[in-house]
Amino acid sequence: MPIDVKNDDLQTALVKLKAREKTLMQLEELAGLGSWEIDLKTRKSIWSKQSYKIYGEDESVEPSLDLFFEHLVPEDKERMERVVANAFQSKEPVFASCRIVKKDTNEIRYILLSSQTVFDEEGKPYKAIGTTQDITHQIQLKKEATELSDILKESSNEIYIIDQENLDYLFVNQGACEALGYTYEEMLQKNIFAINPNITEKRVQELVAELKNNHKLIHRTLHQRKDGTTYNVLSYIHTGVYQGKKVFIIFDTDITRQVEDEQKLLEQARLLDFQANHDSLTSLPNRVLFQDRLTQTIATAQRNNEKFALFFIDLDQFKKINDSLGHHIGDNVLVEVAQRLQSSIREADTLARLGGDEFTVIVKNIKNPKDTVTVAQKIITLLKEPIATENHTLYTSTSIGISIFPDDTTNKEDLIKFADAAMYKAKEEGRDNYQFYSAEMTTYAFEHVVMESSLRVAIKEQQFVPFFQPQVCAHSGKIVGMEALVRWNHPNLGLVPPAKFIPLAEENGLIIDIDRIMMHKAMQQFVQWKKERLIEGRLALNLSMKQLAEKDFITHLLKTMNDLDFDPLWLELEVTESQVMHNPERAISKLHKITEIGVEVAVDDFGTGYSSLSYLKKLPIDKLKIDQSFVRDLPDDEEDASIAKAIIALGKSLHLTLIAEGVETTAQEDFLREHGCDQIQGYLHSRPISADEMESLLYKSL
Ligand code: C2E
Ligand code: CA
Ligand code: CA
Repeated sequence: MPIDVKNDDLQTALVKLKAREKTLMQLEELAGLGSWEIDLKTRKSIWSKQSYKIYGEDESVEPSLDLFFEHLVPEDKERMERVVANAFQSKEPVFASCRIVKKDTNEIRYILLSSQTVFDEEGKPYKAIGTTQDITHQIQLKKEATELSDILKESSNEIYIIDQENLDYLFVNQGACEALGYTYEEMLQKNIFAINPNITEKRVQELVAELKNNHKLIHRTLHQRKDGTTYNVLSYIHTGVYQGKKVFIIFDTDITRQVEDEQKLLEQARLLDFQANHDSLTSLPNRVLFQDRLTQTIATAQRNNEKFALFFIDLDQFKKINDSLGHHIGDNVLVEVAQRLQSSIREADTLARLGGDEFTVIVKNIKNPKDTVTVAQKIITLLKEPIATENHTLYTSTSIGISIFPDDTTNKEDLIKFADAAMYKAKEEGRDNYQFYSAEMTTYAFEHVVMESSLRVAIKEQQFVPFFQPQVCAHSGKIVGMEALVRWNHPNLGLVPPAKFIPLAEENGLIIDIDRIMMHKAMQQFVQWKKERLIEGRLALNLSMKQLAEKDFITHLLKTMNDLDFDPLWLELEVTESQVMHNPERAISKLHKITEIGVEVAVDDFGTGYSSLSYLKKLPIDKLKIDQSFVRDLPDDEEDASIAKAIIALGKSLHLTLIAEGVETTAQEDFLREHGCDQIQGYLHSRPISADEMESLLYKSL
């Protein structure tokens, strides 16, 4: 509309209006909001610049209501016609959204229309004014949000939102409910412990601590369904905020299948590994695993300063069995042998089959060489038992070679070589035996182990006999007593001296039986001599502290004396100083009981056991036996001479009888006598002799 500008005011107003129009346009652009006006009679419109932009129309185009309808997508046309018709009758503002096709780009856009109809004085609508806003972006955002939330809600993954404070569920999705078998409402009544049977308060604390550092973490856990069954899940946890609360957001995926697959793979791997490391016939470790274990055992032994033994075991007649009866029977024998071997070793030890009839055992952590021998003997005995298989009764024997780490070598290959060599030695020795790589060990084994079993036989067959050694008065030379000394009358070896077997018997406790045999035999003999009035004085018996410690010792002693008619006043018991001093308190009370019945007590090997004087005063003893080590070099050795003198002086001050052992020369005897020793025992007067010899000696000295 052309304006005739004559008036200043008008001029100013016009400028102002232009300025406002410009501002409005800028605002419209900013808000993406276009304004419009429609003359309801002509259906012609006025569009703002922004409106043109929204429809993608050139500003030269004359807008109208029809142009608007042309822009609408066909699906929205009918509806919008109704909406528009209504809007033009409505006194209230009307809002509607619809889709249009933008002219310049041909894209479909969502728009929001707000319309207000204007009425004339007669109440007839004559125009409508309003705005158009392109809301495509908002619609898309909303659509995306709904889609996302639908996905989350319906996802088969389980989603949980948990209140950090009390671990209650604030939200769980459909996937979670379906997986667990609970309804949404039920779930909201629960907290995490209800569905995580493996999770403890402590574990939660750990996870929370971890989350503090990382904000998210992944872990595997187990879920329990409403019906009690469980399944494995992989859990992604992160922290977040939900409904204004600090929460943990958890996405869980059921990985039961995956876990099962993993386990299957693991089992297969294990099986393969087992097959690679084990002998298929006996299921024992094979050569590969044996080598491995040997390496490990060496490392452990080195670290812990331990010894171990390597056994090479070879069946003696296996080839014969295999050749004559066939491989099938041979296999049966090997399986049986493997089982027997397994039963004769400890669980920690490794039994392996190297091939053929060759087995090895690693006997770990041997404290005592005897342990090794025990195992070897057990194996030899077990494998000697007949093997019954398919109507055959087969007899085999075994040869075992043993090397010892680190005594023989610390080198793995050598250890194997040595055990193998020892095994051949065992074969050469006539099979059915074991040999150590080192000769000393074989001797040791013989002495200890063979000895132990023959000692048991000796006890059963009472192969022990007492020898007697006279004890002589230092002044008169008269026999004033005798010491019984044990001899083992071995069927093949003849008389075995006590030094050969007493230490072992002490170690394994057989000394108790030996001493009781001796007690009985010596006392029985002594009673006879007493009755024949051949002897004055007492019979001295050597007693191990082990014997004294026996609960029934006194009872047994009294019974033996009673049975044999032996007067307690005829008896003296010798206990060594070192054994007494090992536990003096106990010895004191035991010895009191002995002296109470009239039996005397002598301290044997005196001077070697570091007696404490205070105990010595308290001990109920009658006699000190000066140890032969101080007597041997008398009288020339000054040190021994002063020790002997000191012991005599000590004994005298305690009013004890003194006897010197091991007296072989008159010079020794003279020295001892001169310094106050009361009695003498030793080769000078007599070696320990048999009962018969003693009897003639007693007759002679009558
Ligand atoms: P012991 O009780 O000190 O016995 C003395 C040992 O010295 C005896 O050795 C004896 O034969 C030996 N002997 C005696 N006079 C002389 C000598 O002049 N010169 C030398 N060089 N030796 C002499 P034996 O009989 O071989 O006994 C050794 C040890 O065995 C005994 O030492 C004793 O500790 C133990 N023993 C002997 N018999 C028994 C027994 O029945 N029971 C227990 N528990 N131990 C016994
Ligand atoms: Ca003695
Ligand atoms: Ca002695």
